[in-house]
Amino acid sequence: MSNGADPFELASIITAHDEGNFAEAVVPPIFQTSLFTFSDYDDMIASYRGEKVRPIYTRGLNPTVRMFEEMLAKLEGAEDALGFASGMAAISSAVLAFVEPGDRIVAVKHVYPDAFRLFGTILKRMKVEVTYVDGRDEEAVAKALPGARLFYMESPTSWVMEAHDVGALAALARKHGVVSMIDNSWASPVFQKPITLGVDLVIHSASKYLGGHSDVVAGVVAGSKEMVARVKAESYPYLGGKLSPFDAWLLIRGMRTLPIRMKAHEAAGMTIAKRLQELDVVETVCHPGLANRLPAGLMGTSGLFSFIFREGVDIRAFADHLKLFKLGVSWGGHESLIVPGEVVLQQKAQPNSAHTFGIHARSVRLHVGLEGTEALWRDIEEALAVA
Ligand SMILES: *Cc1c(COP(=O)(O)O)cnc(C)c1O
Repeated sequence: MSNGADPFELASIITAHDEGNFAEAVVPPIFQTSLFTFSDYDDMIASYRGEKVRPIYTRGLNPTVRMFEEMLAKLEGAEDALGFASGMAAISSAVLAFVEPGDRIVAVKHVYPDAFRLFGTILKRMKVEVTYVDGRDEEAVAKALPGARLFYMESPTSWVMEAHDVGALAALARKHGVVSMIDNSWASPVFQKPITLGVDLVIHSASKYLGGHSDVVAGVVAGSKEMVARVKAESYPYLGGKLSPFDAWLLIRGMRTLPIRMKAHEAAGMTIAKRLQELDVVETVCHPGLANRLPAGLMGTSGLFSFIFREGVDIRAFADHLKLFKLGVSWGGHESLIVPGEVVLQQKAQPNSAHTFGIHARSVRLHVGLEGTEALWRDIEEALAVA
């Protein structure tokens, strides 16, 4: 496997799909079609017999979606990738491709809440057990792995930002014959390439940094041909969470600027995290970039982190007074966002709603967008003045 392409090499993938039909358009067309017709009976039967690979029906293969998949695979240094209608479709299809009743999954604690809920509902009903471990504790991971089918990672986690040594954990999984997966949405392939660190499958919520413009919900799974083929064989076609051509086109558009956006999120996020850490009203800032060094394999940090206020701060007034940071879930777009932890902790009507995901009641999560560091810092200072 390659070491992961330089994002600027991606143009070659788009050109490779041009069989003379794209009129040298700088932006590839959207194959907004559900089906593809055959020139004659022989053409059709050759495709059905598998003698010829060509698009037949968009739930199976669509050229626009394929372009996105090839771009992402190349960025991650993976052999193949599959696009999905959401990050959760990617997670559920990837996990369900590998487990059977009676199997056990080892997962790092504080995974994305809906992944946790998938494990606690559908997988539980399927008699698949999940053991949670602290991914920073390699001994605990090594102890939990023997006999497990799957090791599910997310690093850094998306609220408390626990960052793991992904290569070391992947090596442990390999040693015990356990298939490893990681949700790499936070770092994006610009800052972490888990396939090159020995992880079997990488998953993204492409709704976040890959898309980057908050206008698409999508997901992707990448890995070796063999691993991706396992997903492609059953859960991908039969659960049917296929990425749409238009959303794939938006992702291709978004990924052109991924490295530039990630560097801007990193710089602004680091500056704001450091300044927050200096404030008397702030107890702790949870940002992997504030540690002495990043875990091996993590090459940079994104714009998503959280911090905990000291007692006595009016978090409601702080949130309501912010102008650039909007109250809103999700992240990874151009816009800055804030989520107060005490709001999330009151989320009702969800399976296992008592689970806290490590969220402190006085914490807030920030996504630092692209509005400009000084303007964002002024926004925070003005809101703090009334909090
Ligand atoms: C948003 C998110 C997901 C789920 O992705 P969707 O596209 O919303 O289905 C999974 N993992 C992480 C870390 C996320 O932030």
